[in-house]
Amino acid sequence: MDDLLRLDDQLTPEQRMIRDAVRSFVADRVLPDVADWFEEAVFPARELAPQLGALGVLGMHLDGYGCAGLDAVSYGVACRELEAGDSGLRSFVSVQGSLAMFPIWKYGSEEQKQEWLPRMAAGEAIGCFGLTEPDQGSDPAGMRTIAKQDPSGDWILNGAKMWITNGSVADVAIVWAQTDDGIRGFVVPTDTPGFSAPEIHKKMSLRASVTSSLYFDDVRLPASAVLPGVTGLKGPLSCLSEARFGILWGVLGAGHACLESAVDYAKTRLQFGKPIGAFQLTQEKLAWMAVALEQAGLTALHLGKLKDAGTLKPHQISFGKLANVRAALDIARQARSVLGANGITLEYPVIRHMNNLESVLTYEGTQEVHLLTLGKVLTGLDAFR
Ligand SMILES: Cc1cc2nc3c(=O)[nH]c(=O)nc-3n(C[C@H](O)[C@H](O)[C@H](O)COP(=O)(O)OP(=O)(O)OC[C@H]3O[C@@H](n4cnc5c(N)ncnc54)[C@H](O)[C@@H]3O)c2cc1C
Repeated sequence: MDDLLRLDDQLTPEQRMIRDAVRSFVADRVLPDVADWFEEAVFPARELAPQLGALGVLGMHLDGYGCAGLDAVSYGVACRELEAGDSGLRSFVSVQGSLAMFPIWKYGSEEQKQEWLPRMAAGEAIGCFGLTEPDQGSDPAGMRTIAKQDPSGDWILNGAKMWITNGSVADVAIVWAQTDDGIRGFVVPTDTPGFSAPEIHKKMSLRASVTSSLYFDDVRLPASAVLPGVTGLKGPLSCLSEARFGILWGVLGAGHACLESAVDYAKTRLQFGKPIGAFQLTQEKLAWMAVALEQAGLTALHLGKLKDAGTLKPHQISFGKLANVRAALDIARQARSVLGANGITLEYPVIRHMNNLESVLTYEGTQEVHLLTLGKVLTGLDAFR
């Protein structure tokens, strides 16, 4: 399929090498099996994690401690290629690198960094990020998970988190909790007594991804378990900004896979004596899908350059997450219609991507939350409070 604007011509030779390496990993290790994983609702995290570590994509935008220290566009391109495989695969890498490793790297003590980052970069240890709770989603400020210091200085953690990617397979959880000083982050080894992480079942989206609840029942942690470098909601929000950047690139991969599938199908499926791709109505669908994909690609590349220049603002990330997820979801829905009845089977990637993108629309800030973020910048009026 032709890449109409040839945006990848703007990538450096190193960025293209990363693209090609991740693309061939996905082609060899993921695409042959991912429909089965989705159907069976499994994600072989333990098997894939060291392979992703060897590929160099875990915490690839961080430096030191065994991380690759690559630029933002490289990280984005890797996310794009991973999500062309499946949003679950990209979610695993986003959570590991941006939501679990990033807070340790940015706000952790030297001891926490030494203990966790090299093993996480290698995929020997898996991380998760616990912010959302059963009763607090878009508004995490009201979280009820609480950490109190007892007279010995130990922290005692109580509460529950919900919808936590990698929860049941994680070795370490970054847990955000209320303390007497405000919201703090805790590095919680998942074998600590009182910690449990049952998996959430019956999902119809992101089935090739582990999603869990986390429960903390008098989890006793040493004083050193707190992330010393941040207090308040800006801690978890800064992690979400990192991960949202990966999403606004990642969904380009899902969108591309859907468009490619629709174009291939339209060229070979015959109705009324000719390929359905020869009908003007089909061509119109494909052309709009390509326009949306290329516009999303332009947005991602621009925001990547801003991030590499150190000037990217949170509302610009909201713009990208909002616009690009919406574009990818629209592309997936149109592609599904081009495939007719075949559009609903896992023999083709389209319905899998389409269902996955429903989660991507919701997590890391829903569409509405990002719209209100942009509305606030445009009007100066805060619709949240
Ligand atoms: C597959 C999956 C994986 C996830 N992984 C993680 C993870 O690893 N870690 C983690 O912490 N969380 C994770 N989440 C949770 C995710 O971030 C939340 O689902 C999301 O923040 C929305 O919260 P909610 O589902 O409670 O919806 P709610 O906040 O209850 O929102 C419900 C609806 O109300 C709308 N709404 C809310 N407030 C407003 C408002 N002020 N104005 C207008 N509309 C509003 C929302 O946009 C939405 O449409 C995951 C979710 C999914 C589905």
